[in-house]
Amino acid sequence: MAVRLTSVHKSYGDYEALKDIDLEVQSGEKVIICGPSGSGKSTLIRCINRLEAHSSGQIVVDGIELDGDTKHLAAIRKDVGMVFQQFNLFPHMTVLENLVLAPMRVRGTSRAAAEAMALALLERVRIPEQAHKYPAQLSGGQQQRVAIARALCMKPRILLFDEPTSALDPEMISEVLDVMVELAREGMTMICVTHEMGFARKVADTMVFMDQGRIVEKAPALQFFDAP
Ligand code: ADP
Ligand code: ADP
Repeated sequence: MAVRLTSVHKSYGDYEALKDIDLEVQSGEKVIICGPSGSGKSTLIRCINRLEAHSSGQIVVDGIELDGDTKHLAAIRKDVGMVFQQFNLFPHMTVLENLVLAPMRVRGTSRAAAEAMALALLERVRIPEQAHKYPAQLSGGQQQRVAIARALCMKPRILLFDEPTSALDPEMISEVLDVMVELAREGMTMICVTHEMGFARKVADTMVFMDQGRIVEKAPALQFFDAP
């Protein structure tokens, strides 16, 4: 089991953003999370890599319980990669510098090895020629592919996406989704918040629908997309 949430609640003050969430994600499974704005999708995904701490219940990621133990948090950060709506690249660093930072600092990878890996990942996200540019010199679609490569640099076992294409101009959406489809075919465990139903249809194993902090429906993708 890659991820298991049991009776998870998350409150911000009096406001309950997540209510009694139960969710199991198998290793290699692709889960697509949909639902209206404010339904708790971001909060759910941010609790899975502990950008937010849940208020009660249990979250286990790759066998590690997210219980606030800092040793566990460090392990989770290595296991789980995340791509946000905004690209969150460091503007004063080149693409290559953005990519090698975490492997060198967190994993202790040598610069030579980190750069070799980064260049290979830029090939994989189809922008090998952009290594020495700064983020502002790239299109939004290219920046988001750098952000995906940066997540992959840590060799994560699980990738989380929070509306990765919703800040992009329409003509750039497909170049990012194409890269995500390839990652899905390579067998990564993926949990994606997205409204891109064409993408969901291609990759999803499971569709999850949220509303007002609850999972209101969870269905195998085949069943969902074949429904009349
Ligand atoms: P979604 O991703 O489905 O749009 P979110 O998970 O971002 O929903 O937010 C769910 C609800 O929790 C929203 O009403 C939002 O305003 C609230 N919320 C999210 N983060 C915070 C926070 N840090 N403090 C207070 N309320 C928050
Ligand atoms: P998204 O729509 O991608 O979930 P939002 O714009 O809702 O993003 O939230 C952006 C950031 O602001 C998140 O870190 C979220 O936790 C925080 N946030 C959202 N709603 C609130 C709120 N009501 N009070 C405080 N922080 C919030």
